[in-house]
Amino acid sequence: MSGKYLMVGAGLSGAVIGRCLAEAGHAVDVVDSRDHIGGNCHTKRDEKTDVMVHIYGPHIFHTDDEEVWDYVNRFERFMPYKNRVKTTSKNASGERGVFSLPINLHTINQFFGKTLNPEEAATFIAEEQADLSIEKPETFEEQALRFVGKDLYEAFFKGYTIKQWGMAPSELPASILKRLPVRFNYDDNYFFHKYQGMPENGYTSMIEKILDHENINVKLSTTFTREMSVHYDHVFYSGPLDGYFEYELGRLGYRTLDFERFTFEGDFQGCAVMNYGEEEVPYTRITEHKHFSPWESHAGSVCYREYSRAAEPADIPYYPIRQVKEKELLNAYVSLAETTSGVTFVGRLGTYRYLDMDVTIREALDTAKSFMSLQNSGQAAKPFFVSVI
Ligand code: FAD
Ligand code: UDP
Repeated sequence: MSGKYLMVGAGLSGAVIGRCLAEAGHAVDVVDSRDHIGGNCHTKRDEKTDVMVHIYGPHIFHTDDEEVWDYVNRFERFMPYKNRVKTTSKNASGERGVFSLPINLHTINQFFGKTLNPEEAATFIAEEQADLSIEKPETFEEQALRFVGKDLYEAFFKGYTIKQWGMAPSELPASILKRLPVRFNYDDNYFFHKYQGMPENGYTSMIEKILDHENINVKLSTTFTREMSVHYDHVFYSGPLDGYFEYELGRLGYRTLDFERFTFEGDFQGCAVMNYGEEEVPYTRITEHKHFSPWESHAGSVCYREYSRAAEPADIPYYPIRQVKEKELLNAYVSLAETTSGVTFVGRLGTYRYLDMDVTIREALDTAKSFMSLQNSGQAAKPFFVSVI
């Protein structure tokens, strides 16, 4: 028996779940309060320069998940792309320079003015830099001091993290830094996943094709209200969890980003992403969008200077903070959600977690599958199919 379902949000979560249900013969409506599809992955060509701009910040696709890789390639051709990030900061003698990230042999040699080989560098970091007295690093700061030591930590992580998160690295969990490797060779690939690439015509083109199905109807500039639910058998909600409940228990904390856009005739910085490690430089990084499409050639350039701050109610929520305070509130919202029927909370905002695109797609595919199998066995759908806390 076919059903009628509503996807709140035309980002990756809404599009992928919607597509799975549509392919199974169900009728799917997708609403988004924005006037475009794609969610935060939205890309658009700049009219003047023709550069493909990542409107809500740079997005690089990387995954180890074969099924997810096949899924995205079914809709869009992925071009080879390796994320190679540079950072501007001061070296061990206090001179400003440009260094390679994630910390690798080139960074170490350049920063300390040495010519170490891999083994010598590993010994140097372990014996002269790392604070081995920290046995079980729990905070971001402890993790950095334990694995790279004070000098590299202060140059590349401390200032950047204070700007990015608005708090001391000693207040943040070690898990945030664990996302970045330290390498004792010259591999400067920011990610270590098997597959990495960039959609040839941007993410919006890919998501447009995912949504292009006869059973899917997309309505933009349409904000979800709970009254809409009565017209549907079930709602998949990828908006903010606290927003669904009209913030009745309070607001979950987020960091937001301000992008200061500027254009340049020529090549502004020679790479896609330049981080700024020093706390005195108010922005965290500058992205130059044409370098995300190295197979294209453009005379003009579009760049974003990126600033991070605490999100106010009217701001776009980007990064969930997930400190102790937020986790307590999250717990309360999860309990509320569990007593609410007819809705499943999905995606980055619906589950209040930082999710990469590949994980978002994996969870969307799994959610649709689990939902349909529960439906087929006559059981009620769940508010969450993943552990949120
Ligand atoms: P979203 O993309 O946020 O989509 C949710 C949609 O719901 C939005 O369009 C919103 O307008 C809509 N909505 C919300 N509330 C309502 C409502 N009440 N009514 C109607 N519509 C509503 N991932 C990577 O893999 N690689 C990267 O390099 C990468 N870089 C990132 C950089 C930044 C700055 C950020 C913030 C994220 C990055 N990500 C990256 C993560 C990526 O953006 C997410 O994985 C992805 O956007 C999650 O998709 P989603 O559909 O869950 O959420
Ligand atoms: N980070 C840093 N310096 C850098 C890049 C990253 O200190 O030049 C820290 C920062 O706290 C960031 C974390 O490492 O949140 C993880 O890095 P990643 O590139 O995954 O950042 P995100 O995707 O969170 O922006």
